[in-house]
Amino acid sequence: MRLFSFFIHTLLVLLLTALTQVGGLLWLLCYCIACRWKDKRAGRALLMFVPLYLLITAAVLPIVCGYFGRTPLPVFTSPTLKPASVMYPLLNRHYVTPNTRRVLQEVADQLRQQHPSSELHYLDAGFPLFKKFPLLPHLSHTDGRKVDLAFFYLRPDGTVTNEIPSRSGYGVFEGPTEQELSTAEACHGKGYWQYSYPQYLTMGSRPNLKFDALRTKRVLQLLLEQKEIGKVFLEPHLQQRLGLSAAAKIRFHGCDAVRHDDHIHMQTEY
Ligand SMILES: [Zn+2]
Repeated sequence: MRLFSFFIHTLLVLLLTALTQVGGLLWLLCYCIACRWKDKRAGRALLMFVPLYLLITAAVLPIVCGYFGRTPLPVFTSPTLKPASVMYPLLNRHYVTPNTRRVLQEVADQLRQQHPSSELHYLDAGFPLFKKFPLLPHLSHTDGRKVDLAFFYLRPDGTVTNEIPSRSGYGVFEGPTEQELSTAEACHGKGYWQYSYPQYLTMGSRPNLKFDALRTKRVLQLLLEQKEIGKVFLEPHLQQRLGLSAAAKIRFHGCDAVRHDDHIHMQTEY
């Protein structure tokens, strides 16, 4: 029984660390304190963990991250740049370098000037602490210079909306038409089983929204115009469909990553 309990706690610590960076350590701390009691240790630990985690997330990490060259992306303070889901700031996955934040805010503000009421929604970015801590499942999101962004969508009647078709922002693909090259099919054919894996990460979907090529292309153009932006990942059929084939900064990420026809990946040079 003790071995089983040890196994469950180890698993929980690893999971919380992978999801939130600091959660595993905080759970360990709370459980150690709860060990002073003889019974209901997990329940007591949970009662301590929730407020402590929220306090650290809301009040401590946004300050301490500065020592690691990070800053949080805006959560409620910017009318133009917001998380696609409150889950991202709640899990401490919205930290970037100050330069990356500035560039993204600039792009979001420029987009608003051209498309009033449009909001740029970010997904996974980076963790607040340490220089090379991977933000799973993204192996490259380690340095605060990488951010995933949601596409733009239209309601069924063609009017613009800031809603996105999946709750997480991942996993609802704008796949290739019959005339377009299917990179996903090619990658699956080569044995890269993980290529369409984000389809399991939607956390619920709103199926009626349609891809808004106009605003998605515009935000890509604005990103490409920023000299600080080094690379943008987008699925090849969308790059072609949006008329951006000549854009050298847009790259194919390779079959060993996951597909990018559900979101944009951008990264700055510093
Ligand atoms: Zn990414």
